[in-house]
Amino acid sequence: MGRLPAGVMREATIDVGAIEDNVRHLRRLVGVDVIAVVKADGYGHGAARSAAAALAGGATRLGVADLAEALALRRGGVDAPLVAWLHAPGAAFGEAVERGVELGISSLDQLNAAAAAATAERPAILHLKLETGLGRNGVPPAEWALVCAEAARLERLGRVRVLGAFSHLSNTSADDDRAALAAFEAGLGVAASAGLAPRLRHIAATHAAIALPETRLTCVRLGIGIYGLSPFEDRSSADLGLRPAMTLRAAVAAVRRVPAGQGVSYGYAYRTDAETTLALVPLGYADGVPRQASGTGPVLIGGRRFRVAGRIAMDQFVVDVGDAPVAVGDEVVLFGDPTLGMPAATEWADAAGTINYEIVTRVGARVPRRQVS
Ligand SMILES: *Cc1c(COP(=O)(O)O)cnc(C)c1O
Repeated sequence: MGRLPAGVMREATIDVGAIEDNVRHLRRLVGVDVIAVVKADGYGHGAARSAAAALAGGATRLGVADLAEALALRRGGVDAPLVAWLHAPGAAFGEAVERGVELGISSLDQLNAAAAAATAERPAILHLKLETGLGRNGVPPAEWALVCAEAARLERLGRVRVLGAFSHLSNTSADDDRAALAAFEAGLGVAASAGLAPRLRHIAATHAAIALPETRLTCVRLGIGIYGLSPFEDRSSADLGLRPAMTLRAAVAAVRRVPAGQGVSYGYAYRTDAETTLALVPLGYADGVPRQASGTGPVLIGGRRFRVAGRIAMDQFVVDVGDAPVAVGDEVVLFGDPTLGMPAATEWADAAGTINYEIVTRVGARVPRRQVS
């Protein structure tokens, strides 16, 4: 990439072509429709641009957690099919129904609220969520018959349309996921007995969609994979034919030649052991760089790998670059596409004891996103 634009201290570049290619690749691999998951601001990549790229790559529907996320996309002009599945207690669904946002429904209360928001011309379009072992939301098995019967009654009245049924997997093991799939199929049987015929049936996110073909059903909900990251510990993006879309980088803000014994950053957790050059990187934990990666997080400067020296602070951290000819303004890449020599987001995740999902999603609002293709 080279240097950052003049006057820019830090940025995340978002390669929307990568998102588009990743969706196209995964769509071909799974052979069923793709619901592109763009919750949490598109895992930090920007919800609207991620949605547009995913649709261009062949996704036929979008998924988000919150209604507010769905409505923001609608206000931004996104008119593709769109489902939201995590609701506040007592949420009103009027605007969602009006704007054609499909609702994931996890309880009888939510079903009734959705029906109450419907009008004669516009039924609420629903995906019934069945709990199959994850222990989060979803209608529990003991209530499947009751909720399905009520949904069928409301559907006959024209208040709701049950377009979909779905669940979510734990990725604990193939056997655990197969057991959840079997439970889901039992739930579909209960729905059919109640007179429901949900056309969309979905249970797999990226992990199962790739690893467990029998979970692909009529469609899959893909999040992390469309951003080019792997949900597997033992398979890289490249192993999966994916390209990471986000590159997090900064411009060196200061360099300082220091003697041996110089303490670096809070607590002097790092001290130089010889005369050396310290480079200051203007990204900190306020920008989503995990403080847990102090002393270990990798960076690429001038084609060479270095590690964070000492503690990561709120706005900045230091790198000991030895005698490398690093200058103010030089590009520092924290993570991006490892096939280009950049550290992978997964390396930062490992350094911080977390997962790559968190590394990209937590990139802070202070970091401007710049779209590239
Ligand atoms: C976030 C989420 C997904 C996407 O999961 P990935 O592992 O990122 O593919 C799918 N379904 C639900 C219900 C989710 O909350």
